[in-house]
Amino acid sequence: MSKTLLQVHNLKKHFPIYGGILNKKVGEVKAVDGLTFSVKEGETLSLVGESGCGKSTTGRLIMQLIEPTDGSVIFEDQSLTELSKKQVRLTRERMQMIFQDPYASLNPRHSVQKILEEPLIVHGIGSKEERKQRVKEMLEVVGLSSYHAKRYPHQFSGGQRQRIGIARALMTKPKLIIADEPVSALDVSIQAQVLNLLQDLQKKFQLTYIFIAHDLGVVRHISKSVAVMYLGRIVEIADSETLYNGALHPYTKALLSSVPIPDPTIQKESIPLSGDLPDPSKPPQGCAFHSRCEACMDVCKTQKPTLMEVEKDHYVACHLYEEDKQFNDK
Ligand code: SF4
Repeated sequence: MSKTLLQVHNLKKHFPIYGGILNKKVGEVKAVDGLTFSVKEGETLSLVGESGCGKSTTGRLIMQLIEPTDGSVIFEDQSLTELSKKQVRLTRERMQMIFQDPYASLNPRHSVQKILEEPLIVHGIGSKEERKQRVKEMLEVVGLSSYHAKRYPHQFSGGQRQRIGIARALMTKPKLIIADEPVSALDVSIQAQVLNLLQDLQKKFQLTYIFIAHDLGVVRHISKSVAVMYLGRIVEIADSETLYNGALHPYTKALLSSVPIPDPTIQKESIPLSGDLPDPSKPPQGCAFHSRCEACMDVCKTQKPTLMEVEKDHYVACHLYEEDKQFNDK
């Protein structure tokens, strides 16, 4: 049985809002508000939700690129939140990120050779010759060629640039990769190629992924489990098959109903998601989703639902299922 590689417990990030003549703190945005989950070695957990739900902030918190307000991140049995900055930097050799916009994340003035060997230089790994050899290997692993090392980012297509971003993330032989919307900026035809590549690399190097996406359709085949986020909280988390075949939370159901099906003969119920995501600095009282939920009840407007296990390993934060459970318990 696989070992747990990453544990996140009650993770929070609240950003202060300053205002007024004295520029005092007048409020806060609870970008991430008490996340708990774990990921086993070699598996993929996807974090899914609309822009502004806190999924990218979660990725940055795990990497310790920003400091959490509360909570812990345990990676390889080591609590990252208790480490010094220097120790955290050393840990990054084994945790890497892939970003959404490969063009923005690659320095346009550096050759691919320089871009790829940079993480090795930062971590003091290998001689010049060894670094050159590793760049060659990683370019081939991601489907490019060694002669690409001399070229510059603008000489590549979007898909090729993302392959360079993936090669860079692999340079230090990491165990965990946080992929923040890695295919969102790519054409649909290229998305599938990059997703297949990520799956092949996972098998080849026993990689563990946290995959961040706004579309449940994109992560379906890559995820072992999926956590759906809404305004900084997980509203539903389950293994991929359970979630795609038996989603319970009204928000997850609405997201799923908007995923296109390639077979036009299959009809499925369309659940509209009305309105926009509320202002995160003024989230609705009670269930944060109540202003957009077709199943909203009175209790939803005043009481925040807690994430509870509704079926084995299937957690949902929704009063609909709390009532079911209370009813069944009677
Ligand atoms: Fe809808 Fe109420 Fe469930 Fe929130 S708690 S998702 S408002 S039914």
